[in-house]
Amino acid sequence: MSSILIFCKDCGKQVPSSETRDGRCLDCRVRRSVADLREEHARLWRKRERYRSHNANVEQIGQQIARVEDRMGHRIKELVSNDRQATDYLRKELEAARGQRYTIKGV
Ligand SMILES: [Zn+2]
Repeated sequence: MSSILIFCKDCGKQVPSSETRDGRCLDCRVRRSVADLREEHARLWRKRERYRSHNANVEQIGQQIARVEDRMGHRIKELVSNDRQATDYLRKELEAARGQRYTIKGV
């Protein structure tokens, strides 16, 4: 099956038109779909660090973080039909979400 290559309007990458929706590649669609959850994740993560530095109980926040990560997984699965690919996307998003706190922390 052949398809035309088009430029993703978010990242500018050239992708087969069959992999795009609304002019966006899958990468960008995944990123956009979990953007709010990623912020929520970062917020909870910072909260947990703050609590931890006060020796407070962080177990509940840990559960909230796990729930957000779960929801990210669900949203990605809705966009990515291939299970292995969906897992890869989730891993990447989580790495980004967890890594984000370092840049935010320094501000
Ligand atoms: Zn893109």
